[in-house]
Amino acid sequence: MATSFIDKARITVRAGNGGNGVVAFHREKYVAAGGPDGGDGGRGGSVVLVVDDHMSTLMDFRYKRKYVAPNGADGQGARKSGKDGQDLVIKVPLGTVVRDAETGEIIKDMSDHEPYVLCRGGRGGWGNMHFATPTRQVPRFAKGGLPGEEHDVVLELKLLADVGLIGFPNVGKSTLLSVVSKAQPKIANYHFTTLFPNLGVVYVDEGVSFVMADIPGIIEGASEGAGLGHDFLRHIDRCRLLVHVVDVSGSEGRDPVADLDTINAELEQYSGELAKRPQIVVANKTDIMTDGENLERLRRRAEELGCPLFALSAAAHQGTRELVKKIAELLSVLPPVRVYEPEYVPQARREVTAEDLSYRRVEDGHTWLVDGAWLDRIMSNTNFSDYESRMYFDKTLRDAGVFQKLEEMGVEDGDIVCVNDFEFEYQR
Ligand code: GDP
Ligand code: MG
Repeated sequence: MATSFIDKARITVRAGNGGNGVVAFHREKYVAAGGPDGGDGGRGGSVVLVVDDHMSTLMDFRYKRKYVAPNGADGQGARKSGKDGQDLVIKVPLGTVVRDAETGEIIKDMSDHEPYVLCRGGRGGWGNMHFATPTRQVPRFAKGGLPGEEHDVVLELKLLADVGLIGFPNVGKSTLLSVVSKAQPKIANYHFTTLFPNLGVVYVDEGVSFVMADIPGIIEGASEGAGLGHDFLRHIDRCRLLVHVVDVSGSEGRDPVADLDTINAELEQYSGELAKRPQIVVANKTDIMTDGENLERLRRRAEELGCPLFALSAAAHQGTRELVKKIAELLSVLPPVRVYEPEYVPQARREVTAEDLSYRRVEDGHTWLVDGAWLDRIMSNTNFSDYESRMYFDKTLRDAGVFQKLEEMGVEDGDIVCVNDFEFEYQR
């Protein structure tokens, strides 16, 4: 059966490039040879993720796979800066886990409403107005904008729910959710009715509530990827408590103890940790139970497993209140919903080295522009008004081979080196 529920998607995101700085000179009627007034390029737009509470699937990402924020505009004359590129905001459902597409490492768990900058826009280049000095009054160069970050990521929805309903199809999970919460999951008497996970808020008492998730029925072999179940197991990864629904009516000729064990074995295969999650066993459909033997066997099995058992009828609203109270009681002492820690720092932020610097010789050949992310990082940690810091900065550049590279390119004593927004005279 095809599912229309999308809970995993691979997308490419790219921040905008910084605009270029511009070379321009002040012009005014009757005024000769104005000074440099080329403005800076604008910053490229960043790609920002935000949680949208109205979204519950990653469906939107099925058709649109590339997300590109606009570039910053180039600077203009008259000291006019180029416009910044607007940030591109991508909305995702709560509980979306963002992974690096190549390594699978977690970049960010969107489990709160804090916006997250996934790709940073490139910095705009400086216009020539910045490069005027007493000895260089006519700078004929400006800096180019830096490229925006780009990344292939996989979005994966892992619902944020306190309680996850598990069990074979048709045992009454959706019915139970609809009875204890305001959620209106699809209920029907055939297998695999639930294709979308449903979340419901269950109000217990004033100020006491929890979120319950109904996921599509797990089937045998799910943890090996057979059928529907496997994809959906990830939705209960975070649940603090599992409610395992079993049909004890015998109406479908099922053996409740075998059902319980089968699903638990599936959980175990998928994740040993998930299998150890606290469970409540719900013996459902007691209203049409023909003999009590099944229920007694299930009760004994649940006892062996150390799980509380609640016999009830979801459809008849019998016994559901007691179940809800028990869930609330257990939740009050369980640890909070799990949030995944980032395992990965995006490439562009991690592996910046002096190797990636760009060198450019401009003007009369005695001015050098050195640019790159590695410098951004070093310089943001350097206090240029402090002598010691400047010496340390100098040593860092030397150790990284920056000066050697400049010498190879023909730098001479007295030349001006511009590293980002800092200038110095080159001395061997
Ligand atoms: P799910 O697949 O586990 O979500 O099961 P559903 O909630 O969709 O229910 C499957 C069928 O069982 C539906 O026809 C329900 O009306 C029925 N059902 C659910 N709970 C009960 C119950 O307590 N008693 C009876 N007699 N039928 C129930
Ligand atoms: Mg269902």
